[in-house]
Amino acid sequence: MRFVCETCKKTFDAEGTKQEWMDRTYGACSRWVAVCPDCSAECQTARTVKLQADGLDSADPDGGSCSCGGGCSNCGGGSCSCGA
Ligand SMILES: [Zn+2]
Repeated sequence: MRFVCETCKKTFDAEGTKQEWMDRTYGACSRWVAVCPDCSAECQTARTVKLQADGLDSADPDGGSCSCGGGCSNCGGGSCSCGA
């Protein structure tokens, strides 16, 4: 599994550890984390690194304009115009 370190911008492959938690908005969430071999920071997978802690593939907080919570199919592009 491929991980990205946000501290030193290193991409590396690791087995990872699955983290699970209950989110008040989204319910049961999970993500994979690994320790950076260079700086020992906790890293997320390359695929979900932009999603932070929400754990939803369709939700992209970095998209900026969409606040529909991942319910709209346009969220992935960061140019959602669902008006939510
Ligand atoms: Zn690092």
